[in-house]
Amino acid sequence: MTITVASGKGGAGKTSLAAALAASVGSSCIVADCDVDAANGAIALHARLRESGPYFAGPGYRIEPSLCIGCGRCMPACRFNAIRTDKTRRTYLIAEELCERCGACTDHCPVDAIQGFTKEAGRLSVSDCPLGMTLIHAELVPGEDTSGKLVNQVRRRADTINPGNAIIIVDAPPGIGCPVIASLSGADIVLLVVDSTISGLRDSLRLSELAAGMDKRIIAIINKTGLDEEIDNKIRVAMTQSSIPVMGEIPFDPLLRSVEEKDLTWIDVAGEAGLKAKAAVRAVLEYAQMQMIY
Ligand code: SF4
Ligand code: SF4
Repeated sequence: MTITVASGKGGAGKTSLAAALAASVGSSCIVADCDVDAANGAIALHARLRESGPYFAGPGYRIEPSLCIGCGRCMPACRFNAIRTDKTRRTYLIAEELCERCGACTDHCPVDAIQGFTKEAGRLSVSDCPLGMTLIHAELVPGEDTSGKLVNQVRRRADTINPGNAIIIVDAPPGIGCPVIASLSGADIVLLVVDSTISGLRDSLRLSELAAGMDKRIIAIINKTGLDEEIDNKIRVAMTQSSIPVMGEIPFDPLLRSVEEKDLTWIDVAGEAGLKAKAAVRAVLEYAQMQMIY
């Protein structure tokens, strides 16, 4: 059973909720932190690194100077203007930041001077959490643009170490781009974390359309309620109209924002917000259990 926790925008409370879900499930849970551009699952779950290895993206392309005869045929072949030459038109090189790695230029070089190469674009890690959960997480090297592929690797690694009966909690990146699509693939349930703001509602509806287009079962938790009753109501109505069951509402409370500093998750927080967070998490897990039975 895979539950993907997703939100249309950053700051909605997605990672904290994923950590609270994982803490409730306990040692039979695997957490896949797919927010590879801003991975902070290890902080939220107070995880200790068990192992880490390089993630290679590729192929990139470069021109080998000792082979290039300076014919210039590769330049017009590149639709992205990534191939550069100097005034003498003898030296050619590929501007890495412009290269889209399509490989089209290699077909036009008469001497095979354009060569593919792989490079380390990030790291993929496995960590242990104090409550017994296993965390798979990754970090992309700043400036690298292959986050969708790295997300796939995080997901695959989580599936590989799953003994078969574990609940996998996927913390998806915010938005609706390629890494989000990679995070949603394989999800049995998509849990939308709806930030109780107008932009939170708008972004969540876009994300729910994406998930619905992938035939996913969608549920929601509304976070930071109680600040504006009118917006809270708009979100409730929108969820009903979109046939998205709301598993709970968590009121805004500064206490929830400080849990990570105290090595806690939302379900450990006292007061109304903590109780509602605990009830919402329980409702999600009961819903997931029903889906497993039927
Ligand atoms: S791989 Fe594609 S984008 Fe990169 S230099 Fe060659 S043609 Fe241009
Ligand atoms: S096509 Fe090949 S040989 Fe000609 S300029 Fe480009 S890299 Fe050099």
